[in-house]
Amino acid sequence: MKFTPEIYKIADEPMVPFLDAEEIWDYINNAVATKESVREIIAKSLSKKRLNLEEVAVLLKADSPELIQEIKEGARTLKRNIYGNRIVLFAPLYIGNKCQNNCTYCGFRASNTEAVRKTLDDQEIVKEIEALEDNGQKRLILVYGEHAQYSPEYIAHTVKVAYSVRKGNGEIRRVNINAAPLDIEGFRIVKEAGIGTFQVFQETYHEEAYKTYHLRGKKADFKYRLTSLDRAQEAGLDDVGIGALFGLYDWRFEVMSLVRHTNHLEACYNVGPHTISFPRIKDASMLNMGDKYFVNDDDFAKLIAILRLAVPYTGMILTARESAQLRNELLQFGVSQIDGGTKIELGSYKEVKNQEQNLNKGQFRINDDRSLNEIIDELLEQEMLPSFCTSCYRQGRTGEHFMEFSVPGFIKRFCTPNAILTLAEYIEDYAPEHTAKKAWEVIEKNIDTVEEKIRPSILEKLEKIKKGERDLYY
Ligand code: SAM
Ligand code: SF4
Repeated sequence: MKFTPEIYKIADEPMVPFLDAEEIWDYINNAVATKESVREIIAKSLSKKRLNLEEVAVLLKADSPELIQEIKEGARTLKRNIYGNRIVLFAPLYIGNKCQNNCTYCGFRASNTEAVRKTLDDQEIVKEIEALEDNGQKRLILVYGEHAQYSPEYIAHTVKVAYSVRKGNGEIRRVNINAAPLDIEGFRIVKEAGIGTFQVFQETYHEEAYKTYHLRGKKADFKYRLTSLDRAQEAGLDDVGIGALFGLYDWRFEVMSLVRHTNHLEACYNVGPHTISFPRIKDASMLNMGDKYFVNDDDFAKLIAILRLAVPYTGMILTARESAQLRNELLQFGVSQIDGGTKIELGSYKEVKNQEQNLNKGQFRINDDRSLNEIIDELLEQEMLPSFCTSCYRQGRTGEHFMEFSVPGFIKRFCTPNAILTLAEYIEDYAPEHTAKKAWEVIEKNIDTVEEKIRPSILEKLEKIKKGERDLYY
């Protein structure tokens, strides 16, 4: 399918900064949200069409409790009808926190002399991965500060180490990356190591605001960061994740800009971002940030629902920065991936016991410290289907979120069956009895929702998994 480019003040061209702040503000300021217009826009999204900036601005303008509720209900319906009840699980693994930048909001910033600096060596990476595999993890995101040591070759090396570790039936089947933006050659090197998604968060899309938070280091160059994922695309790395750090500037501006960024990638490369992330600033070592742009929970829920409706075919990630209670609530509005059993202090997965967080050892404070199994258990309670699926990416079915969304029957043919098979592996290898019991019940219910003609083959594969075979997928 070809995306129809929209007309903006700055035309979309590869590698050219595309954002006009004045234009974004014009859309926000001139939007009028009537009941009719809001309902029409929600209906458009539910008919599987992505929204343009003017329409997103109308949803942002809607401020009556009634309309906000309708927006949330729209997102809930979209999630349920189109994606079903799967939630993909992953874990972050911090590889190194040396950093030459000085992002005001981050515990790793160069000027923070309290930060305990560490880069895992190969043996330590292996130990961490073994601990993650022992918990049942299959999908990781490796995270790095920005430092000369963390070159593309180094990142590629750590990815290969991660893929090489096998403990029991454990293995890592997909490694994503969150690291400083690279040049085209750098992206090529990292892609060749077999990564999944490369994430770069713009932090704030407002250039003036951006400059106040990034005074030194490479990251001070707003435009270089804004075009990072264009360079990834030029390198043939078409699986990219975008994000904004909420709390740095007006959240409405960031939502509009995330949609604008999506449009830009679609217009230039005919593929949108694989995922959108929307972290909120959390406490960090020696943090001294004002709260002018603080995003409260209500606005946060609203913005997630609006993003879901705006780009209905893009994966959405909600991390353990948020509390368990809030995550459980926000999952309903269209989040498709969450991390579980998260530990962000370098080298901490191998620790057996959960320890008090030491802010000087991590990037920020996390607020959901449930184990992976506790999260899976709670998802099952809510009749959700936890998934460790990595099939599309390994089968070369790229743009999977787009296919889930747009190819009729895709979810029934691939996503649900693969979620069932990966959950069954988890049950066999890692789940305590009470979780296993719930999980088999959820699997049984979900088998009824897949295409009838593949049901016998799923049952056959489940039997094989019970007998010890692994990594069976569609
Ligand atoms: N160092 C690389 C970079 O800056 O691009 C990799 C990303 S950094 C390790 C991961 C992300 O964490 C940042 O892009 C930022 O959005 C987020 N982050 C930084 N400080 C944070 C804080 N105090 N609370 C929540 N998220 C934070
Ligand atoms: Fe360094 Fe990234 Fe933290 Fe900025 S956000 S200080 S670049 S680790």
